[in-house]
Amino acid sequence: MEIEVAVVGGGVVGLAVAAALGRAGRQVIVLEREPALGRGVSSRNSEVVHSGIYYQPGSWKARLCVAGNERLRALGAAGLVPFRATGKLIVATEPAERMMLEELLRLGEQNGVPGLRLLERREVKQLEPAVEALAAIWVPTAAAVDAAALVRYLAAEARRQGALVLCQAGVMAVAPLSAGYQLHLATAAGEETLTARTVVNAAGLHADTLAALAGIDLEAADYRLEWVKGRYAQLSARAATRLQRHIYPVPAYVGIAPGAGRTAFAGLGVHVTVAVDGRVRLGPDVEYLPARVEDYSVPPAVASLFFQAARRFLPFLEPEDVIPESAGIRPRRAVARQGFADFVIAEESNRGLPGWINLVGIESPGLTAALPLADVVAELVREQD
Ligand SMILES: Cc1cc2nc3c(=O)[nH]c(=O)nc-3n(C[C@H](O)[C@H](O)[C@H](O)COP(=O)(O)OP(=O)(O)OC[C@H]3O[C@@H](n4cnc5c(N)ncnc54)[C@H](O)[C@@H]3O)c2cc1C
Repeated sequence: MEIEVAVVGGGVVGLAVAAALGRAGRQVIVLEREPALGRGVSSRNSEVVHSGIYYQPGSWKARLCVAGNERLRALGAAGLVPFRATGKLIVATEPAERMMLEELLRLGEQNGVPGLRLLERREVKQLEPAVEALAAIWVPTAAAVDAAALVRYLAAEARRQGALVLCQAGVMAVAPLSAGYQLHLATAAGEETLTARTVVNAAGLHADTLAALAGIDLEAADYRLEWVKGRYAQLSARAATRLQRHIYPVPAYVGIAPGAGRTAFAGLGVHVTVAVDGRVRLGPDVEYLPARVEDYSVPPAVASLFFQAARRFLPFLEPEDVIPESAGIRPRRAVARQGFADFVIAEESNRGLPGWINLVGIESPGLTAALPLADVVAELVREQD
């Protein structure tokens, strides 16, 4: 079988790319190795529509997050995807954190995040009476989306734009041809091959492995991924009814001096997210996995860790309000240990692979950014003509 574009990966990113390419008149196939779509990172995340406040100005993460926030807001307003306009508070609980709030506010303004405001304790209490904070940033555009519904919407949209979407079609090997690529697939029917002029690698946790199959030196390209687990706990119904908005602490920096590495966050800290259906979760934390094993277990000890961390700004919590729940794994570029690491969105002619497009390190805010990210890919494909 020959096709114009093969998109490897049927998560939000691959499906959004397929929809954008279909809309641009391309003949597209989506290859997903699992029996169903969106079973990877797209189904194990916080479902937060991020505002774009945290990222290095000018980066893909910053630009695509701000743009993606608007796109998801529009889908929500049109009733196409369940969406909840929660807004979010980033709270300072110690005097030293105030300075960091101001710095974060400036960062967000530089990134074009609309409506940011510094709130004093009294104003925080008016919005969220149960939250204890000295001051906070109010982020009105942060929201919640139903990630599974977004996957369904994007899959339907990709098909409506003419894309063929296949499950149980895993890419096992890649052979570059003089023009295009031969992909060796493991399918329900056995082994098959497919030839594509253009390949988009949207393989999530396995994007570096697929790039290596195409012949890319992961170390030289800085494409090596680390798997970074994030665990969640659910709040009891009693506690959940006291919170309406996402509540985040001031994030921990990778470097100690905020000025030096101010977009290099180790994680956003144990935070509160409110889902579209009103469920409230704590997490995710940050745990580098020593081996590439999809281990989604959550030990009971998570409850007391999260309780201790969240009690600083949620003083009403009781230990029994925190119930260990689930986990996700971030596909984080190894270079992120040294500082801010952006999404890789790269057409690889420079590495001798024309028409091969890598999307590597699409961790948060990838769910928020998927739609405008797909447009960037469609433009890269157009430039190949
Ligand atoms: C703990 C956590 C919290 C997060 N919270 C948020 C958030 O609140 N807001 C936000 O915007 N983002 C968040 N993210 C990030 C967001 O979830 C991801 O950026 C996004 O889902 C990535 O989508 P994807 O399509 O790239 O990856 P995936 O959904 O993983 O899709 C990749 C697909 O490729 C398939 N695949 C892999 N290898 C092959 C192969 N060889 N052949 C065929 N198919 C293959 C996989 O089976 C998978 O289905 C979070 C992520 C994590 C882990």
